[in-house]
Amino acid sequence: MKSYRKELWYNTETRRKLINITPQIENCLSESGIKEGFLLCNAMHITSSVFINDDESGLHSDYEKWLEKLAPEKPYDQYRHNGYEDNADAHLKRTIMGREVVVAITDGKLDFGPWERIFYGEFDGKRRKRVLVKIIGE
Ligand code: ZN
Repeated sequence: MKSYRKELWYNTETRRKLINITPQIENCLSESGIKEGFLLCNAMHITSSVFINDDESGLHSDYEKWLEKLAPEKPYDQYRHNGYEDNADAHLKRTIMGREVVVAITDGKLDFGPWERIFYGEFDGKRRKRVLVKIIGE
């Protein structure tokens, strides 16, 4: 069995951002040489997410509105977590958008449904943060 590990770094210019990281994940897969197996991709921070959905700008603005209804960023003092920090909303957004995805690898490719793409969801950005890619198989 082969094993591959890589950390991808992101530093968004805004507090919240969704990034399609599928091309970078595909690069990892081809670098690994693994043809059959599983790929795990997870955010290594508790205020950002990795999830799979459609790369469609209307949907992305729907996510922003929906998440702001569920866990609005402001006012900061509505959250008990916000003492020295101001990112309680980001922790909550990360929880609902998820920590990781697992994708089957078949014939050296991500075995996706037709519109599936992998996204990094940043909810407390403007600093360097990591995503882990782990692939096992043969
Ligand atoms: Zn915090």
